[in-house]
Amino acid sequence: MGLLAAGTPLPWCEARNLQERIRTEGIEQLLQVFKAAAKRENDPLLWGDELEYMMIELDSNQQNAMVDVIHDKILTDLNTTDKNYLCQENEIEFHPEYGRFMIEATPESPYHMLKFNDTFIEDNMKRRRIVADTLLSEYNQPENGKKYVVLALTSFPRLGSDQSINIQHPWNHKNSASRSIFLPDEVINRHVRFPTLTANIRERRGEKVCINIPMYKDLNTPDHDTTVYERNWFIPEDMESLKASKPGHIYLDAMGFGMGSSCLQTTYQAPNVEMARFLYDSLINFAPIMLAISAAAPAFKGWLADQDVRWNVISGSVDCRTPFERDVEPLLPKYNHDGVGGIADEKAKRQLQKIPKSRYSVVDLYLGGHNKFFNRNYNDTNVPINEKILKRLLENNVAPLDYDLAKHFAHLFIRDSVSIFEESINQDRETSTNHFENIQSTNWQTIRFKPPTQKAIPSEKNVPGWRVEFRPLDIQLTEFENAAYSIFIYLVVETVLSSYNTLNPYLNMSRVWNNMDIAHKRDSVLNDKFHWKNDFQSETASTDLYSINEIFHNKNNGIFETFINKALINKNWIVKSWTELKESTTHKRYYYYLKLISDRASGKLPTTAHFLRDFITTHKAYKQDSRVSKSINYDLVLLCDRITNLDNSNGDLSNFFGDEIAAFLLKNQI
Ligand code: ADP
Ligand code: MG
Ligand code: MG
Ligand code: MG
Ligand code: MG
Ligand code: MG
Repeated sequence: MGLLAAGTPLPWCEARNLQERIRTEGIEQLLQVFKAAAKRENDPLLWGDELEYMMIELDSNQQNAMVDVIHDKILTDLNTTDKNYLCQENEIEFHPEYGRFMIEATPESPYHMLKFNDTFIEDNMKRRRIVADTLLSEYNQPENGKKYVVLALTSFPRLGSDQSINIQHPWNHKNSASRSIFLPDEVINRHVRFPTLTANIRERRGEKVCINIPMYKDLNTPDHDTTVYERNWFIPEDMESLKASKPGHIYLDAMGFGMGSSCLQTTYQAPNVEMARFLYDSLINFAPIMLAISAAAPAFKGWLADQDVRWNVISGSVDCRTPFERDVEPLLPKYNHDGVGGIADEKAKRQLQKIPKSRYSVVDLYLGGHNKFFNRNYNDTNVPINEKILKRLLENNVAPLDYDLAKHFAHLFIRDSVSIFEESINQDRETSTNHFENIQSTNWQTIRFKPPTQKAIPSEKNVPGWRVEFRPLDIQLTEFENAAYSIFIYLVVETVLSSYNTLNPYLNMSRVWNNMDIAHKRDSVLNDKFHWKNDFQSETASTDLYSINEIFHNKNNGIFETFINKALINKNWIVKSWTELKESTTHKRYYYYLKLISDRASGKLPTTAHFLRDFITTHKAYKQDSRVSKSINYDLVLLCDRITNLDNSNGDLSNFFGDEIAAFLLKNQI
């Protein structure tokens, strides 16, 4: 993607008048895609990952760590100046992200299966961080005790607290985009798309976004978020916070809290559209399970949370639904008549429907297809759709879709576009997917079904085909872990793609939604039970409640046995069990990738969230009040920096990874 082109994003008062047009044209573009690409066959299993990093300022004089919002220039440099050779040389790419302190990085071109040596992915990941970190380090000021680092933290623990961003006077001017009482607009990417997106979501909703995260309860924890305060810059937004914040919860009021957190995503190309649908369906229940075991976000806005993951924070942070759509009373009825927020037009108001979930949320519908195990009744949740879009997708002369696929897109297209560029209003149906992608890519679900473009006719093998993206994971501190999680999912994908009509992945969607709630619980890996299939071979969708340890390690329905071993046996890498890789001369590193996940699943090793929480609650400055003070946060970031750089001088690596993995990593550095 590189950098975003300049352009003029429309404010909500103009964007809202173009919604029908964007949706209608977007769907025509999608039909053209199906017409062009539906018959693609035998696309190779290409795949790739995306890592999101934070730039952080460490100030040793002040003993403080802040997100760095002043050196975002390095991202521009990497994409536009002679620094670009660093990307080419290292086969990596850098992309903008929502946070001005964030950088997204991907491999330059997708991987082909696992057809490379066992350090390849981790090495590519490491080069991304080192390149960014090296450029950023040029701004270090040792004389002032200032040092800059690039780290893969899921949530910056103090984001939105006092002195959590590195500009001098963030509050001597107003933050009109988010209107947050905590986050200055300087956390938002400078490209005008991002502040406009922030404002448009708020305006459509008719209120600031509002996220109440359960607060971790310790001996001296106050009964409410004591950082909420009264202000009178913006009427009515400033009047909302005291009403919106709930006792016992951390209150967050801006898109930046969610979109300013980092994740690990992986995308896989399926051989054809039918297999892409099957892959999508198969990965749906892996999302909550893998979210739980990737948990890496124990603190928000300077408070310890009573949960371990970022997911519902982002979900709430981009929730553009009006109070009517959410089926709640507006916070301030006087300013939000009938709870219809920024929906102005009478016709649009009449079309509003109740919508149970944010546009950033768990998957809504199985895609189905021709595979023998799918049954439409497994889509058993309340999922509103756009009837007009459904009808068009089913009945047209371009490329009629079947009901289940049509319903998927008809659901995505209940959403409005919250980002329209004046220059992009007129698009060609046959060559552009701009309007389609506008709605599609702002439906942020745990799994994303990624159709290709109209260029992807069957003979155009160099153009990407039908892909599926796995999106739930909190990002991990080290490349070792991020490679491990990516490869783990990759192996699941291989098994799925070789098991069409022999593997039955289906369970009721309502159970998957329930799993997603369970995955948010603190230490759900250790303490909770999730819905998991009793077996993956029979016709049935029967499930039981299983611990994460059982879900990974059970003999007949566990992930290691059913998915990982199967993939490795298919490759002739093992005879029976992944543990044989320990003795492998060529794939030993994969043993440690799998061991990491196995040990976290069994509770032998902590999740990142558990580890960081322990660090905070045992820190000498911690007052049993759930607060992550500046000094605790500073030491925590230093700890994360040591782990990221595999520095075991304080024994951190051994504590985090256990002795065996730590020793392997130190001996086999990439
Ligand atoms: P997005 O932000 O929309 O998810 P990105 O371009 O940032 O997309 O990342 C997409 C990921 O997909 C990257 O890791 C990239 O390497 C990978 N990728 C690119 N082409 C293909 C393909 N044909 N099949 C599978 N993955 C691909
Ligand atoms: Mg991306
Ligand atoms: Mg993206
Ligand atoms: Mg991203
Ligand atoms: Mg550095
Ligand atoms: Mg992505």
